[in-house]
Amino acid sequence: MPNSAAIYPGSFDPVTYGHVDLIKRASSIFSEVVVAVANNMQKQPLFNTQERIAMLKEATSGLSNIRIEIFDGLVVDYARESKINVLIRGLRMVSDFEYEFQMALTNRRLAEEIETVFLMPSEGYSFLSSSLIKEAASLGADLTSFVPNSVADRLKKKLNK
Ligand code: ADP
Repeated sequence: MPNSAAIYPGSFDPVTYGHVDLIKRASSIFSEVVVAVANNMQKQPLFNTQERIAMLKEATSGLSNIRIEIFDGLVVDYARESKINVLIRGLRMVSDFEYEFQMALTNRRLAEEIETVFLMPSEGYSFLSSSLIKEAASLGADLTSFVPNSVADRLKKKLNK
């Protein structure tokens, strides 16, 4: 294998147990997993980049071959600069497929040498999304089975719950 590292890009606003499940799976396949947090304000994240990175660091502190980084702009440009040619994305349900398929093929057109690898989470996490968790948090739901406690605490604080 010419380069056995992989990049897992996303918003992680905030990280959930679904993301953590994927990071663990990827870390057992690749020598290093770079979790790349998009510094993309167009998506109007609830948490700023530094907060999202802090939560990811806490959530992955038990894993040794993980690096958390920020990236701006196109993920393929970031991958080329990092000299890593594998992107990890998650597929939860069929509903993810269309968007992920379009994005993978667009990225392939932009950078032929970069391959997207899809991983599926444990079925127990396949319904989890950051946006649903933010909604549940805003309504005061118990988040303990969705996100690490540190994330639940930050959500409560941010949303005054
Ligand atoms: P983005 O804004 O790039 O979609 P996300 O943080 O929402 O960023 O997701 C990053 C990647 O993680 C996506 O490929 C998404 O499908 C995947 N993902 C999100 N939640 C889960 C989950 N519960 N299980 C598996 N993969 C997930």
